[in-house]
Amino acid sequence: MLVQQILKSKGNDGVITIKPGTRVSEAAQILAERRIGGLVVSSDGETAEGILSERDIVRSLAVRGANCMQETVDEMMTRNPVCCTRQDSSDAVLTRMTDGRFRHMPVVEDGKLVGIVTIGDVVKARLQELAMEKSALEGMIMGH
Ligand code: AMP
Repeated sequence: MLVQQILKSKGNDGVITIKPGTRVSEAAQILAERRIGGLVVSSDGETAEGILSERDIVRSLAVRGANCMQETVDEMMTRNPVCCTRQDSSDAVLTRMTDGRFRHMPVVEDGKLVGIVTIGDVVKARLQELAMEKSALEGMIMGH
């Protein structure tokens, strides 16, 4: 399965981005309200300059304390996130996420952000694919 099929099945919700100068406290509010675990950081809404994960916030809180909530997201984000394209396979994306130990991957086309996939999206798509393969194989074995 390709990333473009995963994006299609998610619907065309667009990607929630925040500007580098946004305070971490505001980013945390957006994460909570939208019930998501990561935000793409972008000045123009098109270039993925960084990614801020709930894990980045939790780690900073543990190491530096509550003052980190007043920092701007560009001080805490991971710069130059690993991205994929619509043509990448779900297996390739899953491997990169597993090897890199992250759960979010911006999808870019010609340097522009066109979507985001999470490890949850990819696992869900793979499970659906495996269920379809299983029922096709069962059909072949049973002869219908
Ligand atoms: P996550 O598991 O995606 O919530 O994030 C775990 C860590 O990896 C955090 O430090 C994130 O900033 C970072 N991270 C998340 N997504 C990516 C990505 N696509 N490329 C590089 N780092 C990432």
